[in-house]
Amino acid sequence: MSEERAAVLDRVGLDRLFEVLVEDGYRVVGPTVRDEAIVLEELDSAAWLPAGWGVDTAPGRYRLRRREDAAVFGHSAGPQSWKKYLHPARRQLWSTGDDGEFRSVADEPRRYAFFGVRGCDLASIAVLGRVLGDGGHPDGAFARRCRGLFVVAANCTEPGEVCFCASMGTGPEAGPGYDLSLTERIDGAGHRFLVEIGSAEGARILARVGCRDAAEEEISSARAEVAAAAGRMRRTMPDGLPALMRGSYDSPVWAAVASRCLTCANCTMVCPTCFCTTTEDVTDLTGEHAERWQHWASCFELDFSYLHGGSVRTSGASRYRQWMTHKLGTWHDQFGGSGCVGCGRCIAWCPAGIDITEEAAKLAGERP
Ligand code: SF4
Ligand code: SF4
Repeated sequence: MSEERAAVLDRVGLDRLFEVLVEDGYRVVGPTVRDEAIVLEELDSAAWLPAGWGVDTAPGRYRLRRREDAAVFGHSAGPQSWKKYLHPARRQLWSTGDDGEFRSVADEPRRYAFFGVRGCDLASIAVLGRVLGDGGHPDGAFARRCRGLFVVAANCTEPGEVCFCASMGTGPEAGPGYDLSLTERIDGAGHRFLVEIGSAEGARILARVGCRDAAEEEISSARAEVAAAAGRMRRTMPDGLPALMRGSYDSPVWAAVASRCLTCANCTMVCPTCFCTTTEDVTDLTGEHAERWQHWASCFELDFSYLHGGSVRTSGASRYRQWMTHKLGTWHDQFGGSGCVGCGRCIAWCPAGIDITEEAAKLAGERP
């Protein structure tokens, strides 16, 4: 957490923070309830936040539940991540008309404010930044969407059943990389948010909101509650994951997990750091108009490893091994850190209830 002065907002103050971001020209994206889940959408007011909603998660399970209070951040990760806005699932790259000219399709400029970003998800944005934004050939569309991004982080005090961010060092406390961070508190003293400032832009926005300084006791008790959340996470990853993955190529665990895995790719679609894409060219019936589209791809698809007349990874075992070995092992070699931030989405949204922490424990010999 920031060492800067901390402030306190009440629930009306939170609404005002949202309003100030909208007035300032930000397109504010936050969690809201739709289709029996908490999803991320562009919102025009804080009234759309999921007040009073929580979620129950388990391997292969995600259910909304009513809370007994009106907490707006009292839920763990939903099926979507902020990747949806920074690295969209589908986007047009270019088109040609009957004049034969190629026209690149430019994204309209966006100035996003992400409202309620968990520690794990803030870390996932940094992971995507290292993959897509750094290096000799950065993805221009990703870089443009990140430009001017304002992040309101939400420190987590209620981890979900499938969360393991503490084990990956990404939460439950958010940071670094936020402009403002919030810790939601509801008790006899009321519904309020401890606000910490992470950037000059965060300080500028907060100055327009109106809030009071936090007392020392309010800061220490909020921090203690976030720290206590780490102790309530039941899932962990084994130590030494890159070496474990390097030494596990011939493990019988891959065949065992493949006997359950449907190779449906859900885990890669919900993962906030999976970044692979493919392209697709389409023409209309006259043949005078063509378009190229980019869309998310998955290493669980058979044609993902198609080379010169055949796929390299034809079995489910080889595809699951590829996904997990890259995520937890070779990602370190490529991008200098883990590809997993411990959000637990792949566990909740796997229709077979496959749990990446359990499979890692089996590889480490910690479980049969
Ligand atoms: S691990 Fe689960 S979510 Fe991933 S491809 Fe297999 S069945 Fe689908
Ligand atoms: S691998 Fe699973 S737990 Fe790790 S970041 Fe991806 S979805 Fe989250």
